[in-house]
Amino acid sequence: MIVIGGGLAGLAAGVALAESGWRVRLFEQRPFLGGRATSYVLPDGEHVDNCQHVTLGCCTNLDDFYRRVGSANKVKFFDRLVFLDPQGRRGEMQAGVLPAPFHMTGSFAAFAPLSLSDKLSIARAMLSILLSRGKPADVAEPGGISMLEWLKRRGQTKGAIERFWRVVLVSALDEELDRTDARYGIDVFWKAFLSNRSGYRMGVPAVPLADLYAGCKAAIEQKGGEVVLRSPVRSVRMESGAITGVEFDGDRVESADAYAFAVPHTTFAELFAAHAAQLGSTIANLRKIGVSPITGVHFWFDRTVMDELFLTLIDTNTQWIFNKTALYNASNGASPTGSPTQYLQLVISASYNLLQKPRQEIIDLCLAEVRQALPRAREAQLLKATVIKEAAATFSPHPGVDSLRPMQETLIAGLYLAGDWTDTGWPATMEGAVRSGYLAAEAVLRKSGEPRQFLQPDLAPDGFVRFWA
Ligand SMILES: Cc1cc2nc3c(=O)[nH]c(=O)nc-3n(C[C@H](O)[C@H](O)[C@H](O)COP(=O)(O)OP(=O)(O)OC[C@H]3O[C@@H](n4cnc5c(N)ncnc54)[C@H](O)[C@@H]3O)c2cc1C
Repeated sequence: MIVIGGGLAGLAAGVALAESGWRVRLFEQRPFLGGRATSYVLPDGEHVDNCQHVTLGCCTNLDDFYRRVGSANKVKFFDRLVFLDPQGRRGEMQAGVLPAPFHMTGSFAAFAPLSLSDKLSIARAMLSILLSRGKPADVAEPGGISMLEWLKRRGQTKGAIERFWRVVLVSALDEELDRTDARYGIDVFWKAFLSNRSGYRMGVPAVPLADLYAGCKAAIEQKGGEVVLRSPVRSVRMESGAITGVEFDGDRVESADAYAFAVPHTTFAELFAAHAAQLGSTIANLRKIGVSPITGVHFWFDRTVMDELFLTLIDTNTQWIFNKTALYNASNGASPTGSPTQYLQLVISASYNLLQKPRQEIIDLCLAEVRQALPRAREAQLLKATVIKEAAATFSPHPGVDSLRPMQETLIAGLYLAGDWTDTGWPATMEGAVRSGYLAAEAVLRKSGEPRQFLQPDLAPDGFVRFWA
């Protein structure tokens, strides 16, 4: 079995197939594993994530994957999400004593950045999601409808849209509300916030992202396979409609019984451009899927400026601030504030407005927002800063995009697809990538007459929800 791409999708497929007794050879073009969800070392020795990545309690397949590769204890889960607006008003989301779907009622009622009319309108929309068990009828309209349109139909206030729905969903789905299919937005609230008490819990890796994947190489090698880095596939060989090999630099060709391509959708479309006719509408559909950007800003201060582990900002360009020093120290037993300096990572999803801005302008903009939010940062000296712009961070979840996403099994014998962009029902997330890898592995096993299930079920509804869901 040849797997091309060492991101989460390729790793999940490779590990699942190795566990099923297949000899897997995984080829990755870069010198490290993890794809977009990875980290690397700066020239000065600092470990930085490509961008902060978080998971949620409802991401059952990612959780399963981390357990399989021995990384589950490197991700810490938190029950309390703190929001802060420029006026200094704080709000929290935390499950209280009531059962689902009422577990957030207490913290929502006390959420200071929202007015009473904002809250009443949000409660009405939540009721609509609940009563439809996460599937309101208008979401299934042909071509899909945008999240913004769905919210307007539910009479949401401006404050509710800007200070609640947008804040949660732009981070979760990396797209603006008018370009997001309502199906994805509603799914976030149904799976993470309404149907059970633990789906919203936020998991943050307590190690640099690349450290999460050491067990993958071992799992593949134990079954006689190999993980080959710095090996970009340049083209594919096809004979009589079947794939017969993949070509590398220097005319090297590798062949196998089956091939799983776990590369970004744009790369897959390029590699198979000459064979598009054999893939039905797949390549034409992939060319219609857009991408959206995420910008990560890394700040190192000369002192501690923040006590919380992470914060969500409202009404600012900066959407999240992660206290990397505390998150890493908490995991290796050191005092969370034991370091004299402090490393913060900021995340801005759907950062279209930053793409053309010079790096220094982005640093100045974000630094002003951090100093507004964290008073101690006003006196602190910024020792260094880095900006990482990912112009194609995720595929854009625009209305109707689901109909463009291909299945993991293809029309070409021996060719399978994995990647967050394949048909998983999930948006572009680590969970979606792992699901796609598991689904690709299941397709390979089914085809070879040894079916096995890797895909994990969603979290079961609990509390009162289980009586009507
Ligand atoms: C800045 C940023 C922030 C994000 N934040 C979050 C978050 O907080 N939570 C979350 O769940 N998701 C987040 N995501 C999304 C998440 O990272 C992706 O959905 C997921 O990692 C995609 O995995 P993948 O395996 O499908 O693709 P990729 O990670 O892109 O993997 C594809 C791999 O294929 C390799 N490759 C490409 N071409 C070739 C070739 N020709 N030959 C060999 N190898 C090749 C690439 O180098 C890469 O390693 C974020 C993404 C970005 C960019």
